[in-house]
Amino acid sequence: MLKWNGDFDLLGEFLTIFKYEYLHESRSIRIDPVQINSRELFENFIEFVNANADRIPKEINFFQRFLKSLPKNHFFFVVFGTIDSTERLMQYFDSLREIHDKNGIPVNKVAHSKDALALLKKYDLSFYGHQRRLVGYEGSHKMDRVCRFCGGQNGQFDATGGLVSFRNKAHVIPESLGNKKLVSIDECDNCNSKFGRGIEQSLLEYFSVFRALNEIKGKGGKKKLVGKDFVFHPEKGFEIKYPGNIDENTQSLNLKLKTNSSFIPQDVYRSLVKMIINVLDNPELASVQRTIDWVNGNFSAGLLPNIMIAQSHDFYVNDPMLVTYRRRINEHAFPHVVGEFRFTDISLCFVVPFSDNDRRTFIRNSDFKKFWNDFEECRSKTSWMETSFSSKSPRRTVINFKLEGLKFGENFFHMKSKDVNP
Ligand SMILES: [Zn+2]
Repeated sequence: MLKWNGDFDLLGEFLTIFKYEYLHESRSIRIDPVQINSRELFENFIEFVNANADRIPKEINFFQRFLKSLPKNHFFFVVFGTIDSTERLMQYFDSLREIHDKNGIPVNKVAHSKDALALLKKYDLSFYGHQRRLVGYEGSHKMDRVCRFCGGQNGQFDATGGLVSFRNKAHVIPESLGNKKLVSIDECDNCNSKFGRGIEQSLLEYFSVFRALNEIKGKGGKKKLVGKDFVFHPEKGFEIKYPGNIDENTQSLNLKLKTNSSFIPQDVYRSLVKMIINVLDNPELASVQRTIDWVNGNFSAGLLPNIMIAQSHDFYVNDPMLVTYRRRINEHAFPHVVGEFRFTDISLCFVVPFSDNDRRTFIRNSDFKKFWNDFEECRSKTSWMETSFSSKSPRRTVINFKLEGLKFGENFFHMKSKDVNP
């Protein structure tokens, strides 16, 4: 961050060292937000410094250090004002990664300025879902493909005598959550359909409320959400049968609506982790074999670390999105891999359990708090809710629904409960 106090003429001159466009009508310049750390830029900068040696603020040294720390021909952003939220900073980071991707610069070589996110010092971040991408091990020929979940090899027989094949498109994030872009090349057809019929049903059910709400906000989908006392219809709206009374003082109504179908919390956790397994680099799979065993349902956990959930407009994504946080420091207070799943304006952050590279399970409250407080600190100021997904028994989604601004005679009427619940 470069602070500039006073002397706006000089600032104007400084900005011309960047790539810019002159706007004749307004007689102003427009700086291209994406800049390259090119030789030309550096020469422009030195020329500017030499020409104005007597009056440039000493803060300019910061910029020189920044240019030197950034590898040659790497991209960076010029942003005016301050970036006030970590979400925004992560979006910039993500766009930057995309630009480097397109230009064939390996992501792990992308440099960050020294005062960039503390989070980036601890973790390598990768983003998936917003652009078309095949994930998985590409090193082998199609015929030699090995499934990262069951270990089955293309064309060979599996333990049950079935043939292992890779014909179907294996979506990393279920297609019905809106993912069309992120596809795995090393998830076999058997595993793909097993997950689809199994654990992913819980994930879809868990998100069903948000899906229905989102379809209403969006293009108007077809999916109905049906509960005991209500029908939630994307086209026709909301119908509630409620046998209670409306509080006339607050003119509001608090409802707890239960959906008809249920989900298994531990399977929601499994599905989230399954997506992370899909996108991990091949060499990393060795340390998460027990995790894969658990995802496959070979054993169930008694207790799992809690999952942090937040809903905020800052999170809003059009395409569902996965973020992996891979620990880059040898500090066991932080989990080896943390995953994040984003759907519409909801974010779920979770520890990838059972990694061989973890010494802690993060089940103990104090361990989890220590990790999360630090993680949240550099992550976002949104209020996160800590939720347990350890349970193996089916649970119904409960929607806490609040209707406000109800005026007697206008949009509600007294009804005897027999009118509603015969
Ligand atoms: Zn498989």
